[in-house]
Amino acid sequence: LAARPAPYLDELNAPQREAATTLDGPVLMLAGAGTGKTKALTARIAHLLWTGTARPNEILAVTFTNKAAREMKSRVARLLGQTVEGMPWLGTFHAISVKLLRRHAELVDLKTSFTILDTDDQVRLLKQLVVAEGIDEKRWPARQLAHIIDNWKNRAWTPDKVPAAEHGAFNNRGVELYAQYQERLRSLNAVDFGDLLLHVVTIFQTHDDVLEQYRRWFRYILVDEYQDTNVAQYLWLRLLAGGHRNICCVGDDDQSIYGWRGAEVGNILRFEKDFPGAKVVRLEQNYRSTPHILAAASGVIASNESRLGKTLFTEAEEGEKVRLIGHWDGEEEARWIGEEIEAMQTGTRGMRPFGLDEIAILVRASHQMRAFEDRFLTIGLPYRVIGGPRFYERMEIRDAMAYFRVAVSPEDDLAFERIVNTPKRGLGDKAQQKIQVAARQNGVSLVEGARLLLQSKGLTGKGAAELRKLIDGIDRWHAEARAQAVAPQDDPDAVVEDMDAPRGSAHDHVELAEIILEESGYTEFWQNEKTPEAPGRLENLKELINQLHQFENLQGFQEHVSLVMDNERDDGGEKVSIMTLHAAKGLEFPAVFLPGWEDGLFPSQRSMDETGLKGLEEERRLAYVGITRAEELCTISFAANRRVYGQWQSALPSRFIDELPEAHVEVLTPPGLYGGGFGAAGMAASASPSISGGTGSDLYERASRADVYNSPGWKRLQSRAGHRPMSQPSEGRNMTIDATAISAHSVGDRVFHQKFGYGRITGIEGDKLDIAFEKAGEKKVVAKFVTAASS
Ligand code: ATP
Ligand code: MG
Repeated sequence: LAARPAPYLDELNAPQREAATTLDGPVLMLAGAGTGKTKALTARIAHLLWTGTARPNEILAVTFTNKAAREMKSRVARLLGQTVEGMPWLGTFHAISVKLLRRHAELVDLKTSFTILDTDDQVRLLKQLVVAEGIDEKRWPARQLAHIIDNWKNRAWTPDKVPAAEHGAFNNRGVELYAQYQERLRSLNAVDFGDLLLHVVTIFQTHDDVLEQYRRWFRYILVDEYQDTNVAQYLWLRLLAGGHRNICCVGDDDQSIYGWRGAEVGNILRFEKDFPGAKVVRLEQNYRSTPHILAAASGVIASNESRLGKTLFTEAEEGEKVRLIGHWDGEEEARWIGEEIEAMQTGTRGMRPFGLDEIAILVRASHQMRAFEDRFLTIGLPYRVIGGPRFYERMEIRDAMAYFRVAVSPEDDLAFERIVNTPKRGLGDKAQQKIQVAARQNGVSLVEGARLLLQSKGLTGKGAAELRKLIDGIDRWHAEARAQAVAPQDDPDAVVEDMDAPRGSAHDHVELAEIILEESGYTEFWQNEKTPEAPGRLENLKELINQLHQFENLQGFQEHVSLVMDNERDDGGEKVSIMTLHAAKGLEFPAVFLPGWEDGLFPSQRSMDETGLKGLEEERRLAYVGITRAEELCTISFAANRRVYGQWQSALPSRFIDELPEAHVEVLTPPGLYGGGFGAAGMAASASPSISGGTGSDLYERASRADVYNSPGWKRLQSRAGHRPMSQPSEGRNMTIDATAISAHSVGDRVFHQKFGYGRITGIEGDKLDIAFEKAGEKKVVAKFVTAASS
């Protein structure tokens, strides 16, 4: 191989080449986003193989995600122009640790066949211990203990090594319970996630011979995203590299975004102390982004106090400025982004056309995804959610929807089957079989079958009591749902003459939905569930409730969901990517949308409430990660109003927006509702004398707000009877304005109606629209049931 010139080196600049070819001794590549760290690291693997310096199984390469590992493997193959025979030790810390631990399980009293507990099992196990100790689990939840133990494991503290300062944890019982927990795991021949690393570290620390063997074996060690390693991972690496010291780490202190999971950015800063004589390579040329994007990102991160500071430059063409746009509310934001993406496909605003694969939407919190998914489904824009199922496919959403289905139609057997023992109510397979038999024998639905079963005392004990409770609940919910479905004002076919007349029970179905989830015990189930993902599931449930406000009743909502679900066929074509900022680390896209830049959402409320700057600085690094994912086009947006837990709240634009250097930002005018008034008047206007005197924060805040409240759309809203005027945002954070009730349509628009599908507007009369539907023919409908669709 080595006889031919190494093709992969041609693609590198001088410092990259140095990092890729300095194979012996410690190397640290510390450089900003998009400077080609991962590229150089990949070339280094290629070089090790190409020059015959190492065989594939002698290279230990650590990536942050499994996906990154797969990508690196295929890139190495591409660089070498040939397939690489297995790189068995290229993977995440956890993946590599599992393999090591399987080989040496007996050294930590485990059998090779050990099982890996998920977080659910972990908490359940801890709960047993806590209860057995007579500790009040309500006051001292097992989830909290799990969190403490995880933290200790991240720091590589076995029970005997937990320092005295920590002994007060969990009411002074933490360490003792930790020791018991480890014992219990051992007797179960099980490990949890944290153990994977910790056991390997313990083995290395206590068995020199084993450590020596691996030091000889893994002759070259490479680590990407080093800034996000925790102490256990750090020790793991330092032990392995301790002999030959052939270790190359790459990272960026500005992109350390896992502090909340125990990552220590100090590891990267300490590298030169740990490995004296290390070659430190700095990369300063960014190959990913345009100057405007780079300047915007640099401007934001400059506000962080604790950082090394770096210079970055690019030779790329200037390109578009970072675009900033404020919206009336979150739905409007999603609508705008949807329309913008549609326009971008053929080219808009003088830009080149973008393919859907080139576009990503990066959100701070996963519950933000719903608005986009919904909008994209409605307009038929293909998308994929990276790092999690799509909103309606999530377990908790499906469960909740099944409850709503049963409430609307109790004879929906599939839905009933789904919820009968969710949450667990002692109705296992046996009980469910009895219900099935009773239903079949009598030719009735499962609910009726269950009723008969109870009457005939075919089921007794706790299960029977629980089933009775469920059936009673379903009866109540159904009665209410029916009453709502037939109420005349709730009929989407109807033309309501006076839209402003008091609509006493407009949101009854939202309340009903909440009641169903509460009475069924489903919400409580997730509240009591102490797993790390439980809070996220509760958020999603709240988001689901949130969404109900847009519909007249549960039935209407269900129709909507089944309509949009029908669109969900994967044709393998190009798609827009939606993911969290955390999941986007290391990735790049030509066009990136960063929605929801509002204080309280991004930066998160928690980071803002914290004393000290640590949390806030981590959020700012996340902002830096977000902006630097963009190659050509970066669009940041915020909404003046967002529905949070069903309540409208006014939001302030994110403080990070104030930190964007103005010279690199273009403020766009939102369309639609504002009749162009919003942006044109003031948002664009650092030039406006009344605004230019203020600080950056004033500028965006006042501009966005003043313009919202002076905009024609807002005036129209205020003039509508029945709405509470909202003169100044400072008067209350909680507003109860139904912004969805405003018609923003014009004749000729293509629209989508909940019940009749797609059509084109032929006439407008106040809030009533004449629409020629593609399938249902001519109809006069109420505007609020209509959303804009692409032509
Ligand atoms: P991040 O910090 O976001 O992980 P990174 O430093 O790992 O970024 P890479 O992903 O390796 O950066 O590279 C960013 C982009 O720049 C990639 O598209 C890569 O192909 C390109 N690139 C890197 N180095 C060069 C180079 N020397 N010449 C041309 N393009 C390069
Ligand atoms: Mg990278």
